[in-house]
Amino acid sequence: MKHYRKELYFNTPSKIAFINITSQISGCIEESGIKEGLVLVNPTHTTSSVFINDNESGLHSDFTEWLEKLAPREPIEQYRHNNASEDNADSHLKRQIMGREVVVAITNGALDLGPWEQILYGDFDGQRNKRVLVKIIGE
Ligand code: ZN
Repeated sequence: MKHYRKELYFNTPSKIAFINITSQISGCIEESGIKEGLVLVNPTHTTSSVFINDNESGLHSDFTEWLEKLAPREPIEQYRHNNASEDNADSHLKRQIMGREVVVAITNGALDLGPWEQILYGDFDGQRNKRVLVKIIGE
């Protein structure tokens, strides 16, 4: 069995952002030389998500508004996590809603996704350096 590991780096221009990383993950699969297997993609942070959905900007705005209703940022002091050193409780909750990681099948050296499925990186506490781990196993 072959294995491959890579870290991707992000620093989003806004606090909340969605980035389509599908082509970067395809690039990792190509680099790995693995034709049949699985790819795991996860952020190494507790305020970002990797998830699969449609790469459509209207939907991404809908995610942002929906998450703000479920886990509003203000008032900051409504959350016990927010104290002298922390003010990002809502970012942790948003990440919990959108999930941590995805696992996708690799078939014939390519991502085995549905027609509208794209791998998206979501940051809920952006404007700082974040990492995403890509781990591939297979043959
Ligand atoms: Zn925190």
